Parts: sequence; C-alpha cells; structure tokens
Amino acid sequence: MSLTPALFVGHGSPMNTLETNRFTTAWSEMAASFPKPRAIVAISAHWYVATTAVTSMEHPRVIHDFSGFPQELSSFDYPVAGSPELARQLADLVQPDVVALDDSSWGIDHGTWSVLAHMYPHADVPVVQLAIDATRPLEYHMDLGAKLAPLMSEGVLILASGNVVHNLRQVAWDGEGRGYDWAQRFDDDAHRLMSNDPANLRELRASADYDLAVPTPDHFLPLAYVAGVASATKASVSTFAQGCTMGSLSMTSYRIDAND
Ligand code: ZN
Repeated sequence: MSLTPALFVGHGSPMNTLETNRFTTAWSEMAASFPKPRAIVAISAHWYVATTAVTSMEHPRVIHDFSGFPQELSSFDYPVAGSPELARQLADLVQPDVVALDDSSWGIDHGTWSVLAHMYPHADVPVVQLAIDATRPLEYHMDLGAKLAPLMSEGVLILASGNVVHNLRQVAWDGEGRGYDWAQRFDDDAHRLMSNDPANLRELRASADYDLAVPTPDHFLPLAYVAGVASATKASVSTFAQGCTMGSLSMTSYRIDAND
C-alpha cells in the first residue's frame, strides 16, 4: 500500500481560488491521483507568527487575510471541519517540541483554502493548520516536518503552501506565465536541490538570487517542512505545476512519496 504523499504547493495569487488555469488544474489532478486522505495538516505561509501552534477547533473559521480583491473572493467560504483529535495527536508526536493548541485565534487562511478549493472542492476532508514560528531557524522547520512524516502512514496529507520565489515588490502584473531570469534561476536551483539533496535546503541561502527570491522567509519556509519529510523518509521527490508567473512568483510544486 502506498502512503499518502506530502505536498508543497506554490499557491500564488488568491485569485487562483476562483480561476481555472494550468496550476489549479494540476492541483485538482494531483488530488485525484491518490486516495482521499482522512485529514490534512496544512502549513500555510499566511500563519507566520512568533509561536508554534496548531488549530484545534471543531469548526475553524475561514480567514480572508488580504484586501483589494473582488467581493467574490472576500466572501469565499470553505466550510471545512477541524480535527481536535489530530491537533492533539500532532502535539504529542512532535514532543519535546511544544505546539500550542489554538482553539480560537486562527482558522483556515487563503494559503490553505485557495489550494483546497481545487483539490477538495466539497470541503469534505478535515483540516488542521500548523503555524510557522517566525522566531525559529530553517532547521527547526525541517525537523518539525520530519516529525510529521509518520502521519503519512495514517492517511493524513501534509500540505505545505507557499511559493519558492515570492517577491511582491517585483511582481509584473502583465507577466502572466513568465518569470524574471533571477526567479527562474532560483527556482531551478531549488528544484535541483529538492530532487537530489533536500536535507541541504540551507544551501540555497548561498545563491546570489536568494535575497531577491526570498525577501522574507514566510512563503519559502513551507518548503522546509516537505524537505524535512523528504530527507527523513528517503522519499522520492517529483514536481507538478512547475514554473514562474508574474515575474517574481514561482508556482513550482513538489510531491513527496515515501516508501512504506
Ligand atoms: Zn501567499
């Protein structure tokens, strides 16, 4: 029996929730390629805070953490259940690291629901969201991801959502489907590293393009979770939805398949 994969999805613009394009099609095709998971642990770039926490409420609220988009997006609903049980299991699993159970402050943000709207449009797979602790180094996030790997044998999907290249100051609004040279170069470097040596994700920091590609760590760090899974499980790494768009966003997405 194959295990549930772990995924890193480049989520891009919130508008992807409502659009159908080559990226969103790849997301829905990906979901159809393996059995429906019993639950999802989502790691979204948009819950980037000074603590490690996991949502533990029965009914997480749908957070619209953006402005300037059409009303249809601001009122988009993804009425998915939470899983207090999975939240507790996760907190136990990663000890002695401490993960706080959050039953009120957060919920499901668009890093998660913009992707899940295509993967599971009926919102019928319970979700817990894991916060990204902004005070911690890259290695902490890789280690935490590695500790989540056993969940893959229990039908739990690890879904990390960010963008390997994410520089909003440099976005080319007319650059649909294209990336700047530096963006493509960094995305290619990340691809090489993820394919051959995910344990050494830190080496990307030495890239001459790192500061432009990763001006802040929030969208990059979700990749550390699946790199941690990949290195812990000696898994095979493949890509889906590869490439850059709007100049400075990489949509490249990774699938991690561990062997049981
Ligand atoms: Zn984002």
